[in-house]
Amino acid sequence: MIAHTPTLFAAVALVATILAFCLLLVGQLNRRDNLLLTGYGLLAHALAYVCYTLYGHAPLWISYGLGNSLLSLALAFYSASLFRVREQRVPWRSIFVIPFFMLAGLMLLLDTLEPRMLLASLVLMLQCSLILCWARRRAEHQGRAHLLLMIGALISLVGLGMRVLAVVFGEAAEMRYDTSNLKQTISVSIGTVTVMMYAIGLVLMAKERSESRLQHLALRDVLTGTYNRRAILERFAVELERARDEQSELAVAMIDIDHFKRINDLHGHLAGDEVLCHCVRQLQQRLRQGDSLGRYGGEEFLLLLPRTDREGALGALQGLREAIARSPARFAGGDIELRFSVGLWCGVPGPHHSIASLIAQADAALYQAKAGGRDAVRMAALLGG
Ligand code: GH3
Ligand code: MG
Ligand code: MG
Repeated sequence: MIAHTPTLFAAVALVATILAFCLLLVGQLNRRDNLLLTGYGLLAHALAYVCYTLYGHAPLWISYGLGNSLLSLALAFYSASLFRVREQRVPWRSIFVIPFFMLAGLMLLLDTLEPRMLLASLVLMLQCSLILCWARRRAEHQGRAHLLLMIGALISLVGLGMRVLAVVFGEAAEMRYDTSNLKQTISVSIGTVTVMMYAIGLVLMAKERSESRLQHLALRDVLTGTYNRRAILERFAVELERARDEQSELAVAMIDIDHFKRINDLHGHLAGDEVLCHCVRQLQQRLRQGDSLGRYGGEEFLLLLPRTDREGALGALQGLREAIARSPARFAGGDIELRFSVGLWCGVPGPHHSIASLIAQADAALYQAKAGGRDAVRMAALLGG
């Protein structure tokens, strides 16, 4: 099916305009500058296609020179939005110099059909390739939205590649903006698809980003940055299930700082806060990859050591206790000594064990450690747990 090329251009312009206004409105209301950048990109995209519809009716510098430079500007905005959405520094100059280069080059080559078509297509292909590279980079930390962007860039490359091939095979006249044929219909339809892919890809990337930030906030302790109570209990449920399935040993440690109230009373609450942060840093430095540490209460921490037997757990916790005793926290130019006590449960959990029952047993062992003079590790099993 062969479509009327100027009508197709107008359709792309309409789609891009509608999307642009939606994004500019949402971006303005939510003060999200990556959405605004995508919106500006779509606006430039729409204006580029309006220029193309004027081919043969308006001067060539508008319908061709300005049109392609606006399309290049649109890709520059999409690139900037891609950096912004990942909270990376935007290389403004390198990104936005390209549309100006395109405008200058096209003005020089305006009266030639093949060279101007080659220049426009190659510059746009370069920009699409850059978007493809930037979307791929550090993609493992992203969700799935970057794939849409990459597919959009790849499809654009196909559409532009068709134009380059037409020039190479001496068929440039078939790709003039006022000509309607199958190749032209395919090439321009690709434009519609890519507008949507760029817009939806960038919007979804921003959404994924803010979701992962919210999830991070919901699961982290505000003061120390370690897991909060909810998160460590979620980890506990996962580890308990896994240890049951694998019939492997799980160590559950309840850690409580000794005489923490005294630290607060002697040095003030800010010093107490620093001691908590110091304690978490010291513990985290010494944990293995699969271990999980969370702040269970004020100065109580829950530590899970999967696939760890009694001897290993006891050795690890004694090592942590000694390390903390050796490294005081620094506050206001002075050292603050700290010690902690640990209640430990270790074993292969059976169907009768629950999170609550294991915490209760670790807690009872902690109580024994405190009652025995503090700065010690006690194993729940010694109490018959
Ligand atoms: P013990 O050796 O028996 O554990 O004595 P302790 O003083 O450490 O125990 P206790 O549970 O009586 O006191 C804990 C104190 O921790 C009470 C509370 O004011 C303080 N605390 C709880 N959360 C925070 C916090 O976020 N920052 C600071 N600075 N203090 C906190
Ligand atoms: Mg305490
Ligand atoms: Mg306590």
